[in-house]
Amino acid sequence: MKALVFLEPGRMELQDVPKPECPDRGMVVKVEACGICGSDLRTFQSGHPRVRPPWVIGHEVAGVVVEVGKEVKKFSVGDRVAVAPPVYCGVCWYCRRGIYYLCVNQRELAQAWPGGFAEYMAIPEEALAFGSIHKIPEGLSFEEAAISEPASSCVNAHEIAGTSLEDTVVIIGAGPIGCFHVEIARARGARKIILMDVLESRLELARRFSPDVLIRNIPGSSEHIDRVFALTDGLGASVVVVACPSGEAQQDAIAMAAKGGRILFFGGLPKDNSKVVFDSNLIHYRGLHVIGATTFSPKHHEIVLDMFATGKIHAREYITHVLPLEKFAEGFDALLSGKALKVVLKP
Ligand SMILES: [Zn+2]
Ligand SMILES: [Zn+2]
Repeated sequence: MKALVFLEPGRMELQDVPKPECPDRGMVVKVEACGICGSDLRTFQSGHPRVRPPWVIGHEVAGVVVEVGKEVKKFSVGDRVAVAPPVYCGVCWYCRRGIYYLCVNQRELAQAWPGGFAEYMAIPEEALAFGSIHKIPEGLSFEEAAISEPASSCVNAHEIAGTSLEDTVVIIGAGPIGCFHVEIARARGARKIILMDVLESRLELARRFSPDVLIRNIPGSSEHIDRVFALTDGLGASVVVVACPSGEAQQDAIAMAAKGGRILFFGGLPKDNSKVVFDSNLIHYRGLHVIGATTFSPKHHEIVLDMFATGKIHAREYITHVLPLEKFAEGFDALLSGKALKVVLKP
């Protein structure tokens, strides 16, 4: 079969590789769509500690089950499935309490097992046990289902923050993740949603998700912080989501939060540049809650597929590019230049 093989940072190649065998308690999926994630870009550019080349990455997968192991009951050949990568152990302290997203033994498809930038992908037994593999609701395309994975973490984040009716939500970063946050905050009833970014082109793409206010923030200036206070009767935002890998944005988030506000640090920072200076007194005296948010539990993936199917999240609107596997470089370029929201590859 054809697969896109990551060879070393900056080098990926379409190769002929053996088709995966069906695990006894797993299955094989014919990949119909695989989204390019921001983390795929980073892996392509500078490698990943848990990806040993040569390796097939790609973890935002949707496809059709073409083989099932003898002992698999939940799925049959022909099922359309969305595959999300986290694989939980099911037995650690967190898993025993159902807090799967904090599993201390979490592994991922496309890291511990080969991923979906290929014609076929094997789904191991472990992923079926506690993984996030769900049937695609009727009416959703493979392309839409493939991007259910990144939205799942956003749903988890708002659940932790308890976003609801009285909240004014600011989202810093208008990439696809920021846009998912807009729609999820809206679905949870937030009264006002403000989206900001440093790039005009991103704000233009994000307009289709109808945030109440779009703000272009100029790095180094504090005008956007003043605007947030002006838009909230001087209170500040009750929920601030940092959906970009920027320490400055994290500082801004703390500065623009209302008293008692919840601040979601959603984007990780580059690992050699992750120290950020805060006015800790703001956190103390204004009673702020700073919350780290990453990954999700299987239920969040199910919730997202349902939100896609019911139109609460306009999945199709995120997909700006659909490309064949061999044109992956075009997809990467579109993402890097801020001209794309989600790019989906079709083997
Ligand atoms: Zn992803
Ligand atoms: Zn666990």
